[in-house]
Amino acid sequence: MNKNKEGLLIVLSGPSGSGKGTIIKSLLAGREDTVLSISMTTRAPRPGEVDGVHYFFRTREQFEQVIAEDGFLEYAEYNGNYYGTPEAPIRRWLSEGKNVILEIEVQGAEKVMNHRSDLVSIFITIPSIEELERRLRDRGTETEEKVRGRMETAGWELSRAFRYDYVVLNDEVEAATRRINTIIDAESMRYSRMENTVLEVLRDVSTQ
Ligand code: 5GP
Repeated sequence: MNKNKEGLLIVLSGPSGSGKGTIIKSLLAGREDTVLSISMTTRAPRPGEVDGVHYFFRTREQFEQVIAEDGFLEYAEYNGNYYGTPEAPIRRWLSEGKNVILEIEVQGAEKVMNHRSDLVSIFITIPSIEELERRLRDRGTETEEKVRGRMETAGWELSRAFRYDYVVLNDEVEAATRRINTIIDAESMRYSRMENTVLEVLRDVSTQ
């Protein structure tokens, strides 16, 4: 049914501690039609992170080379490191009919929104600022200063949520995953994306 149909480009952002990563994992486990773009970054890998799986970990020099070659759909500097979305695999997946999720921060998301009108943007939010603080502290890996810094960034990120098409509350992973599935399913059924399917049938009608 999906033949000849481009996939959806889905931009997904949310404050650190909003649970984006967990939701995406749960979403991908249930959808074969959707893939996650792997970003390039200059930050150091965290324990357990694997090059080519979680990120492409590169030096600043290597990253700047890709910028010079115009190889990114977008890139941004965040907490002193570069993060960028390699463009070539995205074009390929979309043309194969796969939906592609970009899990990126707000500045990069806004750049993509300014360049493309055909994307679906989703902002993941949290029930309250107290809940966000609790989640950040529960990680147990962050210093007090880092928690403060992330809370401040979260405030700024929330103030940009109005730029997104959808806001999904992550009060519970299963419910939040279901909400995003609903968005993807509905967006795939917009007339503009179903037009070829309609026209194909229409052509058969008129040749009978
Ligand atoms: P972390 O260092 O915690 O993995 O990611 C920090 C922030 O960078 C997160 O908000 C994440 O969504 C964002 N990010 C990851 N990849 C990209 C990317 O390719 N482009 C941009 N603009 N942000 C990214």
